[in-house]
Amino acid sequence: MSITTPRFTDKVAFVTGGAGGIGRATALAYAAEGARVAVADLPGAGHQETASMITTAGGTATAIDLDVSDAAQVVAALDQVVSTWGRLDVAFNNAGLEQTQTLTADLDDAEFDRIMSVDVRGVYLCVKHEIRHMKATGGGAIVNTSSGAGVMGISGQAAYAAAKHAVIGLSKSTALEYVGDGIRVNVVAPGMIDTKMIERLTGGTDDGYADVIAQEPIGRLGKPEEIASAVLWLTSDDGGFAVGHTLVVDGGQTIG
Ligand code: NAD
Repeated sequence: MSITTPRFTDKVAFVTGGAGGIGRATALAYAAEGARVAVADLPGAGHQETASMITTAGGTATAIDLDVSDAAQVVAALDQVVSTWGRLDVAFNNAGLEQTQTLTADLDDAEFDRIMSVDVRGVYLCVKHEIRHMKATGGGAIVNTSSGAGVMGISGQAAYAAAKHAVIGLSKSTALEYVGDGIRVNVVAPGMIDTKMIERLTGGTDDGYADVIAQEPIGRLGKPEEIASAVLWLTSDDGGFAVGHTLVVDGGQTIG
């Protein structure tokens, strides 16, 4: 018999895109294993509710309004976390936007910039300032959210795929730069996960869901909790030898 010990007792976790889906599931999972959790998202997105779910269950959480594409807001959010709880141990840079299905020659330039500003610049800004705080307290662990679209091309998704490939390049490079400081940077690449993002992509129709599920050899959508458990592994001591790794959790979608 083994007794499971919470892996994040006394740790401080920062989760972006924490209002729902993968971010909320991960924030709840960190809290369930003892972490104090700062749940960040756009104003009005619903991250206050995630924080309330944690505190109602007896955990410690705070909700922070944050647009990850805005450098000053990222700095202020992380300063708030560290001034409140004294440190930052783990960060999940998960906020992201999907692309409307469009062939590249028809893609609006503003749409390209919108995707890049959140899915790449937002991750870059968070990593940059998280590292500063983690270095000050002797280390930490970061996971950035890529996608199946980060490891393969998808027709009609050039901007999103470019952004999610960029997350992997950014993460591998920063992993090399800071592993000597005790900071591990890794990536999770989810397949099709049952969240609001997929609801928007499918239009919420049975046919839409059937099309998406058809891309999944496992024959179903993933659950947000199945990504959360991968993120917790990567950021815990259990994953202590994983550096610059992209953990694909995708029901077989990208096997090829
Ligand atoms: P979601 O739409 O529920 O979550 C995305 C969150 O990001 C939302 O809460 C949204 O408000 C937040 N967000 C958007 N722009 C932001 C900004 N500028 N600043 C701060 N927060 C912002 O969908 P999800 O599926 O939980 O997505 C989470 C991550 O997983 C995204 O990066 C997404 O690209 C990635 N992903 C999702 C799937 C999937 O099938 N659901 C697959 C692969 C990758």
